[in-house]
Amino acid sequence: MSIKENIKQLQHNIPDTVTLVAVSKTKPITAIQEAYDGGQRIFGENKIQEMSEKWEQLPKDIQWHMIGHVQTNKVKFMIPYVSLIHSADRLKLFKEINKQAALVDRTVDVLLQVKIAQEDTKYGMPTPEAIAFLEGNQLDNYPNVNVIGLMGMASFTDDMTQVAAEFKVLESLFVRFRESKNLYTLSMGMSGDYQLAIENGSTMVRVGSAIFGARNYQ
Ligand SMILES: *Cc1c(COP(=O)(O)O)cnc(C)c1O
Repeated sequence: MSIKENIKQLQHNIPDTVTLVAVSKTKPITAIQEAYDGGQRIFGENKIQEMSEKWEQLPKDIQWHMIGHVQTNKVKFMIPYVSLIHSADRLKLFKEINKQAALVDRTVDVLLQVKIAQEDTKYGMPTPEAIAFLEGNQLDNYPNVNVIGLMGMASFTDDMTQVAAEFKVLESLFVRFRESKNLYTLSMGMSGDYQLAIENGSTMVRVGSAIFGARNYQ
C-alpha cells in the first residue's frame, strides 16, 4: 500500500477523538510530502537537526512534534517552530525549555514523559517523581512551559498483557491529574500497540513504520 493509503487506513482504524502523529524520523522529504498530500499535518521526529531541516523545506502548516530524547543544548534550535514536545522528562529540560521559550516570547506545549516500561533503557521520569512533580506547585516555576498531558512508551515485548498493564499505569496517572492540572493529551501507542493503547485511554498515537514502512536504523 502507498503512504497515502496507509494514512487513510489508520484514520479509519482510530476514533475521531484520537490524534495521529505520523512519525517520519529517518524518512525523506518526498515521503512526508506524500503523507501531507494525503491530508496528514502532524509529524513526529526524534532529532532536532533533522526536524529543523525538514521544517525548512516543507509546508509551514505542518505541526512538528519532538518525540525523542532532547539534549538541553539543542533546545533553542526547535523553540521557534516546534508545536509539541512529547519527551519533557527532567527538571533540567523543563528549565531550559522555559528559558528559551521566554527569550522568544512564546509558550511551548509539552508532555511530561513518564517511564512506564520495565526495561532500563527507556527515558522518562520515574513514576514516583512524576507524581511528586505534578502534586505540588512546581509547574508554576516554568511559566513558558505548558504541560498539556503525559507521554509514555511501553516495553519492547510481545507480551501484550505487560504492555497493557504499563499503559494502565500511565492512564491512571493521567486521570488522577487531569482536572487539577488541565491535562488533555495522553500520548501512548506506536505501530505495534496503538490499538491496545487506545483501549487503555490514549488520545494521541505516534505511528511510524505502519505508515512509512520499516526503518533501516533507529
Ligand atoms: C520511532 C518512535 C515511534 C514510532 O515507532 P513505530 O513502531 O515505527 O510506529 C513512536 N514513538 C517514539 C518515541 C519513537 O521514537
